[in-house]
Amino acid sequence: MLKLYNSQSRQIERFKPLHKRRVSLYACGPTVYDYQHIGNMRRFVFHDLLKRVLNYNGYTVYSVMNITDVGHLTDDADEGEDKLQMGAERERKTAWDIARFYEDVFFTDLERLNISPDSHYPRATEYIPAQRSLIRNLEKAGYTYQLEDGIYFDTGKLESYGELSTLDLDNIHEGARVSVGNKRNPTDFALWKFSPTNKQRDMEWDSPWGVGFPGWHTECVVMSDALLHAPFDIHTGGKDHLATHHPNEIAQFEALTGRPLAHYWLHSYFLTFEDSKMSKSAGTFLTLSDLLEHGYTALDFRFFCLQGHYRSDLSFSYEILSQSARSLARIREFLRRVHHKTNRKNPEIMPQIKKLEKDFRTAINNDLDTSTALARIFDFIHDVNKRMDAGEDVPQRHIEKMFMRFDRVLGLDLFPIETDEIPNEIKQLAKEREQARVAKDFATADRIRDEIVAKGYEIRDTENGPVIQISS
Ligand code: AMP
Ligand code: ZN
Repeated sequence: MLKLYNSQSRQIERFKPLHKRRVSLYACGPTVYDYQHIGNMRRFVFHDLLKRVLNYNGYTVYSVMNITDVGHLTDDADEGEDKLQMGAERERKTAWDIARFYEDVFFTDLERLNISPDSHYPRATEYIPAQRSLIRNLEKAGYTYQLEDGIYFDTGKLESYGELSTLDLDNIHEGARVSVGNKRNPTDFALWKFSPTNKQRDMEWDSPWGVGFPGWHTECVVMSDALLHAPFDIHTGGKDHLATHHPNEIAQFEALTGRPLAHYWLHSYFLTFEDSKMSKSAGTFLTLSDLLEHGYTALDFRFFCLQGHYRSDLSFSYEILSQSARSLARIREFLRRVHHKTNRKNPEIMPQIKKLEKDFRTAINNDLDTSTALARIFDFIHDVNKRMDAGEDVPQRHIEKMFMRFDRVLGLDLFPIETDEIPNEIKQLAKEREQARVAKDFATADRIRDEIVAKGYEIRDTENGPVIQISS
């Protein structure tokens, strides 16, 4: 039985999907105005974990993650500059170029982290007419008003705005730190912002109210409904979305339909760095490429994320990351060792396998408790290693099959891709080539590949990273 913490009810609930074996899932995705930092990536590892756990429980998952390529202002509460426009000015490119560039980098990072693809990645700019018509409908229903800089949603008109903030009311008030300005209520938010009169924006569209662009909170309502037909099962985001973005999404859909947008709301906590939230706007952040440059793999970072529970903040340091890398290597080393053992039933180990399989399922299904699941795995490894040290044989196939099932949830490539027949020299060359590739030094990467081929090996780039083979 899968149990998940629903931010809406503020408790752990038994998960019951709308359809028997199918789950619809929407995730608020990246704002593509800069590199995603590793805090952002933690949030996407959580999204992937959730999908994998749903699969593990026999559900087919239909998932959508949006790409915010317009309308997300520097202040979540509608103040400041559009982040995309800001990125464009910073890099002297158009907002369109910025969006596509960082979107590509984001997809590369997803692949490196073994994050399984979603069914759809809609972009906000592809849904402008639908957003205009949602705003128009809200206007007709009497929920909007106009200010000098845009069209606003009047949260005072929706009695349930406070109620549905069972999504953390305290946070909402704190989040509404906006200078109220001419807004009728501090929690009111922009649906459509007008283009400034003194500046030409790269991204702007006509509307019945004037040239401008949609506010950030409208895109997710429109795209989730278009692709998943709201109400859908699960909506996820980072914990920062509890304060404004999610209540505002819910408000628009409820105002128009009287129905909830989604049934379960899940929020992942932050990655912190030197005691504060890692954030782009603070200008100090680490990307996945930074970690690779320090000699770590993306999966070391994935392991690091899985060691914490998604509902606790996780503090990042290179020291902890190297412990994660060592722990991951330990599991792989254990599996390598098992692989070279004779496959024989062992009456002491068989019941432990059964127990571990059960403990793993219980932990994972208890609100995605990966940290307990990993702890149980290490207990098992410790014990079986001792038995192997003492010369005992092990039920190799049972162990391997069980770890294959675990890896479908954890996505850590636990089974080493490289076989023992590949000499260290070739592995080292492959590593250097990967580093060159990551640094976008394609000339060096190609030169090293030629060297590998000349020595009688092939290198193939797969979704799970490079695979080395002996040339056929
Ligand atoms: P953004 O690109 O700013 O829209 O953020 C993408 C996602 O990353 C959002 O779901 C945020 O909630 C999440 N996020 C931002 N900062 C952090 C952080 N330091 N730790 C974890 N998640 C974060
Ligand atoms: Zn969203």
